[in-house]
Amino acid sequence: MPLDMHTMSTVNVTVTAMLGIVLVFTRARERECPFVGWWGLALLIQAGAVILAAASSTPDAGDLLAIGAAALILGDAIKWKASRQFVGRRANLFWTLLGPVGFLLVAQLGYFQSFDHRLGAVCTILALYDFAAAAELARANGERLASRWPAVSLLVVIGLGYLSWLPLNLAMPIHESQWVFASIWFPTVILITLLLRIALAFIVLSMAKERQELEQRVDALTDSLTGLPNRRALFEAADALGQDKDRRGDAVSVLIFDLDHFKETNDRFGHAFGDRVLKLFAATASAHLDGGSIVARLGGEEFAAILPGADPLEAAGAAEVVRRAFAKSAAFVDGLPVGATVSAGAASVAEIDGDLNALFRRADAALYVAKRAGRNRVELLVPEDGSPLAEVEAAMRSSLRKPFAPLTGPRPFKLRA
Ligand code: GH3
Ligand code: MG
Ligand code: MG
Repeated sequence: MPLDMHTMSTVNVTVTAMLGIVLVFTRARERECPFVGWWGLALLIQAGAVILAAASSTPDAGDLLAIGAAALILGDAIKWKASRQFVGRRANLFWTLLGPVGFLLVAQLGYFQSFDHRLGAVCTILALYDFAAAAELARANGERLASRWPAVSLLVVIGLGYLSWLPLNLAMPIHESQWVFASIWFPTVILITLLLRIALAFIVLSMAKERQELEQRVDALTDSLTGLPNRRALFEAADALGQDKDRRGDAVSVLIFDLDHFKETNDRFGHAFGDRVLKLFAATASAHLDGGSIVARLGGEEFAAILPGADPLEAAGAAEVVRRAFAKSAAFVDGLPVGATVSAGAASVAEIDGDLNALFRRADAALYVAKRAGRNRVELLVPEDGSPLAEVEAAMRSSLRKPFAPLTGPRPFKLRA
């Protein structure tokens, strides 16, 4: 397929510039995407680089080719900088400018003895920036983005593509810039590079979109006051746990906490102060429950925790630790005698059996019992052997405590403060 300089340069400039504009526009529209904006700027600079390189073939153009090549390198350096920023690292101006400025200086000082030497230097520097950008994006920062690995792979492929110019350049030197399109390999690799650049620009867009969606999802699942998972997140976690085949056969417990007389706390100290107390409870529960548990704010002054693997006594013990710690830390808040306390209900199943909803209902029933029994205490709901849940709940509603079997052994978690 014969490719002439004019057609190839026009296509290259138009497509690269269009992609650059789309990316810069996306950045302008969605202000949280600086990564996309930098990538777009890099593409616009690279489109300019192609124009300069093409203009260098005109008479009296001076050394536009060297400036064009430096601009091409600057574009890749900016992509590296953008990739660093994407993974939350500061980009160093020195390393960003070293490639393009260093190349230009060496070219201007006349150190490149031939066009082929210069071409070799350009593609080596471009490859280094691409590999560095790939290494940045590959950094595991705990963020699961499906498009991360395609982006890393494409950058590596593009870098390897640039390096493959070296043997071609050695085996089939071009000699002078005006012969580049007469060369049998140069137009083809330029075309392949352009196609890869297009693919990468789309992947960059998709990475930014994915991150945005991930952030929105995290927001939708987080309680804005306490930073804990919210009700929806908790029930998603419960569903996931119920469906986890590796967990089949494990015990699981649920705790539900409700701050005591919280309306009074608000009335006495104000709503904003009440918020402080809610945050204090969130911090206390998170600090005192095992790392494997999921603590969430159900809403208002109600919180819950799922304790995978915890048997009834462990669950009630954990709730009691939280109850005591909160009674201690909320006795005085900011020097004020708040004396806030919490009641908790705990329920357990010996084996996860797919649906934890019944367990939540039982923990809620236990909480009800704790409230009825005077608050600031933990109650564990243990249905009598074989007693159907509905019966237990009915009994709870009529506040009869008979159906709850007495626990054997010490019950430290039933101690009042
Ligand atoms: P009980 O011991 O029976 O649980 O009594 P209570 O006063 O805690 O229960 P009630 O349901 O009567 O009151 C809950 C209060 O929680 C009322 C509401 O104003 C307050 N509340 C709910 N959400 C928030 C919040 O986000 N911030 C603050 N400061 N208060 C909240
Ligand atoms: Mg409540
Ligand atoms: Mg309450």
